[in-house]
Amino acid sequence: MITRFAPSPTGPLHLGHAYSALLAHDMALERGGEFLLRIEDIDKSRARPEWEAQIYDDLKWLGLWWPSPVIRQSDHLDVYRNKLRWLWNHGYAFSCDCSRRDIQDAMSAPQEGMAPATGPDGLIYPGTCRANTNQSGTVNMPEDTAIRLLMDTVARKHGSELTGGNVLSFHETGQGPNGETGLIEFSTQEAIDTIGDIVLARRDMGTSYHLSVVLDDAAQGITHVVRGQDLFEATKIHVILQRVLKLPTPVYHHHSLIRDNAGKRLAKRDDARAISKFREEGATPEDIRAMVGF
Ligand code: GLU
Repeated sequence: MITRFAPSPTGPLHLGHAYSALLAHDMALERGGEFLLRIEDIDKSRARPEWEAQIYDDLKWLGLWWPSPVIRQSDHLDVYRNKLRWLWNHGYAFSCDCSRRDIQDAMSAPQEGMAPATGPDGLIYPGTCRANTNQSGTVNMPEDTAIRLLMDTVARKHGSELTGGNVLSFHETGQGPNGETGLIEFSTQEAIDTIGDIVLARRDMGTSYHLSVVLDDAAQGITHVVRGQDLFEATKIHVILQRVLKLPTPVYHHHSLIRDNAGKRLAKRDDARAISKFREEGATPEDIRAMVGF
């Protein structure tokens, strides 16, 4: 078993991160496996070296150990870009220069006041730029726009070839937000209707969380992905990308989120629950374990 903790260095780690890291660490060690750490710093506008340094510090203080070198996603942007180009060259992607506003305007709300449809990657793309592809086989991938997955082509037209059938699945050993567990199945039609043309590469990043996470989990041989329930629906995107890119699908273990006293899930900006703050106030690693329910 190989598990991982993959934080983004965009703020202090809080109790929710402690729970996720401890769970992934203990699961691997109890089974004689390995726990890896990966730094997900593709968002250059938000990632900071000082937060990365604090991640190492907090996790070591909690008693975790991981092998070196630690993979930092910003060191592998060329790997993500090469796979993106592969998707582009095969006609599975299109370039898109829509702003969020353009997308909202293009979405016809069926009823006045109804919120536009959203999926695990945000607003479900209305299709405006879908013609900007390399389906003719002669168009180079533009470098200065966002690139989206042509979900319809991937999921429907090439259904069996690319996705291995019209039903996709993954194994869940934890729980989704509605108690989903065991074999989780979803249809390619559901992917078209409720996920849509997800962003594979943001213009300002050259990649996306979804593309990078799928490539790195495979490259690092992760067998069990342990993470919060907030990413349960995004796992469907990851399964689709794994099929198209011919990568194995790990087992997923989504855990419940640690909430504050008001029942709100903790956010990065929630400094009040930062591990470092508890530490400064004299808490021990055992106290942190107890606080998150170990
Ligand atoms: N980097 C993501 C985060 O900090 C986690 C990604 C994952 O575990 O798949 O929220």
